Amino acid sequence: MKKLLLIPFVVCTCQLIAQVKPGTTTVKKLKITILSTMLAQKGVGEWGFAALIEADSVKILFDAGGREKTVLENSKDLKIDLSDVPELILSHGHGDHTAGWIPLRTAMKASNPKALSVTHACKGLFDTRISSSGQEFSSRKTDSLQYIQTGGVVQMYERFTEIHPGIFLTGQVPRKYPEKNYGLGGNVIRKKDELGNIVEDIVPEDMSLVIRTEKGLVLISGCGHSGMINTITHIQDYLQQPLLAAIGGFHLLENNDEQIKWTANELKKTCMRYFMGAHCTGIEPVYQIREWNNLKRGECIVGSVGAVFELDKGFIAGALTK
Ligand SMILES: [Zn+2]
Ligand SMILES: [Zn+2]
Repeated sequence: MKKLLLIPFVVCTCQLIAQVKPGTTTVKKLKITILSTMLAQKGVGEWGFAALIEADSVKILFDAGGREKTVLENSKDLKIDLSDVPELILSHGHGDHTAGWIPLRTAMKASNPKALSVTHACKGLFDTRISSSGQEFSSRKTDSLQYIQTGGVVQMYERFTEIHPGIFLTGQVPRKYPEKNYGLGGNVIRKKDELGNIVEDIVPEDMSLVIRTEKGLVLISGCGHSGMINTITHIQDYLQQPLLAAIGGFHLLENNDEQIKWTANELKKTCMRYFMGAHCTGIEPVYQIREWNNLKRGECIVGSVGAVFELDKGFIAGALTK
């Protein structure tokens, strides 16, 4: 594991983890289990996302679910022990990915002080979000204070970084293509920029996880606010390998047919073989991409709680979504 700079308190500082030049390691064994999304075969469904990543000897929780106890209870129902998971990634600051952050840390700390004690997040997550009445409405700053009081450490990133051999965070994703996958229902959310001006919130902190395997790259996305193609383009600019799988929320639910078709055509260039659209991907876009990209039924599925991706087996979906 590459040595990373540990930052004890980052809410009001701009200290960031330095960009690390990618090595050449590939992950040999990979299992991804969905712990929060809308559909559930075991546990409960919710508007949110979380997944457990097991990559060789590394265990990371990716996002923390949309309600305080969903991931806690779903992991129990799936007989998954999160007390031996030391790290957690917050894909971005929205409550449907962060509500379980402090409750999970607090619950797991009781049996293992190191459980979920390191949180990876991207620059912008602690920006001030402004409601229509001019008030700050995000509670991520106070969450962060609580987390640090439990002994947790928050590590911030801005750029593409290898956090373990063969395991990468995108950092902030350049918005090369005009994918506007944020502001659900046409709502314009506002934030303060670094100069204190109120600007549209494009969710600059939206970051994804990438795992390099011998079969290709595996992408895990929380809400996909940066745009699915923007994110994959950014990843492949760094790693120059085909995309094996895209898993998670990609916020295609409000895209029209023309936009989905454009996404599907761009995905053809990435060599994607497996697609699990969970959370805000929307159900119809998953089927459109399956059809337009000539993917088979077992290779392109709607995500559900308990669904698994394994490197040597592909998707293991439950009865509802297989
Ligand atoms: Zn979001
Ligand atoms: Zn979301």
